[in-house]
Amino acid sequence: MPIASVNPATGEIIQTFEPLDAAGIERRLARAEAAFHRYRGTSFTGRAELMHRAADLLDQEQEALARTMTEEMGKPIAASRAEAAKCAKAMRWYADNAEALLADEHPAPADVADSGAARAYVRYRPLGPVLAVMPWNFPFWQVIRFAAPALMAGNVGLLKHASNVPRTALAIEELFQRAGFPEGCFQTLLIGSDAVEGVIRDRRVAAVTLTGSEPAGRAVAAAAADEVKKAVLELGGSDPYVVMPSADLESAVGTAVRARVQNNGQSCIAAKRFIVHTDVYDRFTAAFTEAMSSLRIGDPMDEATDVGPLASRQGRDDLEELVEDARTHGARVECGGERPMGWDTGWFYEPTVLTGVTPAMRIHQEETFGPVATVYRVADLDEAVALANDTPFGLSSNVWTTDQDEQERFVRDIQAGGVFFNGMTASHPALPFGGVKRSGFGRELSGHGIREFCNVTTVWIG
Ligand code: NDP
Repeated sequence: MPIASVNPATGEIIQTFEPLDAAGIERRLARAEAAFHRYRGTSFTGRAELMHRAADLLDQEQEALARTMTEEMGKPIAASRAEAAKCAKAMRWYADNAEALLADEHPAPADVADSGAARAYVRYRPLGPVLAVMPWNFPFWQVIRFAAPALMAGNVGLLKHASNVPRTALAIEELFQRAGFPEGCFQTLLIGSDAVEGVIRDRRVAAVTLTGSEPAGRAVAAAAADEVKKAVLELGGSDPYVVMPSADLESAVGTAVRARVQNNGQSCIAAKRFIVHTDVYDRFTAAFTEAMSSLRIGDPMDEATDVGPLASRQGRDDLEELVEDARTHGARVECGGERPMGWDTGWFYEPTVLTGVTPAMRIHQEETFGPVATVYRVADLDEAVALANDTPFGLSSNVWTTDQDEQERFVRDIQAGGVFFNGMTASHPALPFGGVKRSGFGRELSGHGIREFCNVTTVWIG
């Protein structure tokens, strides 16, 4: 795939880029190694100053950066602004908290004595240059979620961004440079996915993190494993959204719509499978269908647009295929299920609600990366838990119930990296983010995220 910015609302090519050749990659790897040598010795205070400056720049330039995101991948402009603001917040959070999160740990004195030491403690040290292979769906956030903790820990970053968001990738590199991070601390590699393995295998690269699809994750983790390098994977999700009888139905419906169509439906933590107790199924499904069908499709630069285009033709075609497969096998299309009239130039797809989905349909097991929801009826809590877990993924989950026993049951039994009650899944710098099963391994954000790329060093003094 060429490295190109293409406006998904119009199909117009904005700009194309030549991928780096071998010499270009070599120069950047050498720069990363040299930068790490110096940067690893800098203080938390010094790093925090730079990170705050980067966050301030991001706030000042929010509008221009938001427009770049929307032009490249089609999310509504208000969502792009919110993404930029969220990035600045995470940068400040890590700037203010990294030192405490990575403070030396002191085991209990009795345990220290038992180990034979006069003193013993744990020190978190940086690992080195970390490669981040990132997707287009939250083109700023996915990168900052990696970069803010990595840089605050004393690592340096190499970004291989998705090939359809090169302008955003270069803008992030520039942001860190202008904030004053030393040369080589954060570099964008404009390369195709075929060049990733070589970078992972380079001796100067210490570890790799990937957010994206399962095939990409498998390829990256296999190369990392072969080189015995640390990897963190954040892959897809097919999060359940369970609605039990005690739910505030109006809120559950309103949030369900936002949770499904955020980012034009292209979010790993979007609610995708709506699992509704039979007592409230008819009311929920009618209201949800009505709300989904009244969303405004349109130009993502238009402030009034709820749902813009999918980021690529391939993404739209894949989604359409999943819906067609379900329809052919007997699913009922409650609303949507077509490309919208009057939007032929871009890669639009109508907000869609499907019922009557069975395990024979691909959509029952595969991730829908677009504004398509499946709604299931369940008789009781046991069936809800079983269906929620009947997926290869395990990223997050949403449950609407005010019953504490039901909440406890989900906390105990849900196979996912998160469970959000009476709300929708959203990441926050202070809360760990990541999944189980085929949603990947490792965690981002919070103390867990910053420690992923640290050398947890035991210091024992006899
Ligand atoms: P990909 O997983 O293909 O792309 C994500 C990143 O991985 C990009 O930088 C891509 O580079 C890179 N990549 C792809 N294949 C390889 C490989 N073999 N080795 C190394 N790097 C690789 O996502 P797509 O854009 O193709 O989206 C496909 C599906 O992935 C979606 O429908 C969705 O299900 C899932 N996805 C999940 C995301 C999430 O947030 N968890 C985000 C995006 C997608 P390049 O762009 O150059 O191919």
